[in-house]
Amino acid sequence: MTLFGNSNIIKQIATKLGFDYCGIARALPLDDDARRLETWLNKGYNGSMQYMENYFELRVNPQKLVPGAKSVITLLLNYYPSDVSPAGTDVPKISKYAWGNDYHEVIKLKLRLFVEQLKIQIGDVNGRGFVDSAPVLERAWAQRSGLGWIGKNGNLINKQSGSFFFIATLIVDLELEYDDPIAKDFCGTCTKCIDACPTNAILDDRVIDGSKCISYYTIELKDVLIPGNMKGKFDDWMFGCDVCQDVCPWNRFSTPTNETQFTPIPVILDFTKKDWEEMTEESFKKIFRHSPLKRSKFQGIKRNLKFISKN
Ligand code: SF4
Ligand code: SF4
Repeated sequence: MTLFGNSNIIKQIATKLGFDYCGIARALPLDDDARRLETWLNKGYNGSMQYMENYFELRVNPQKLVPGAKSVITLLLNYYPSDVSPAGTDVPKISKYAWGNDYHEVIKLKLRLFVEQLKIQIGDVNGRGFVDSAPVLERAWAQRSGLGWIGKNGNLINKQSGSFFFIATLIVDLELEYDDPIAKDFCGTCTKCIDACPTNAILDDRVIDGSKCISYYTIELKDVLIPGNMKGKFDDWMFGCDVCQDVCPWNRFSTPTNETQFTPIPVILDFTKKDWEEMTEESFKKIFRHSPLKRSKFQGIKRNLKFISKN
């Protein structure tokens, strides 16, 4: 089979497994991104997310991550929900990516099936899939694979469909036909995300101070208390924050996901503020056992609720 033929097979597998976009790039060290990541870490923009400092060499070099790596396949999966109106305006807000089942569980299964299909249709291919949890600079690979550009809000933006996507990466030891990277930045003079960010976490030159982002405080920060200087700034965000994506003009092209696993868990749309405040640990564990909210644990959600109710 030719390089083109194998790339074609890969794109067909991606479509069959429900991915919305698939792009392929040559597996090379990401030297520019390595320098940017180093500066970002040195400035402490990762806050208490120390795990981001781990595996530096692996993060910037796919050949160190997967021996014999030749290609990086990037897959986008839309999570934009069809119903975007929770019950009432004072309901604690949850980032849209977390309304349905945990994307790690959903995408890991798809990646496993992907590798199985590669072996069946192409032959002896060694591949390893990653979604969010491993040391891969997935947005850089998506940009190099022609799937979008990294916007001023730090998200990958696809010109046809916006930014409400999960990004998965599959590194394989197979030479393929490569897509052209996106060389242009379509943010232009727009500054909507910078102007709208409630905590001023979006800095110049596409740098996000992760340690100031509401997603960091509400999900990653494990402290008992959220710093007092953030009081009044969360605008009812209880888990994550979508502000810089909601205001992005490219997201007017977002369409509802076809992935039924991302259908909102009913309480996400039905719960009132009172329901959230009165929720017990037992019901939290039951309702959110397959949800990304379990990352914050019951205590984290309660801490966040208390913080935003004081605002
Ligand atoms: S997610 Fe929210 S807090 Fe974080 S950078 Fe975007 S707008 Fe700012
Ligand atoms: S809001 Fe504007 S500046 Fe920000 S990512 Fe979208 S297009 Fe770029």
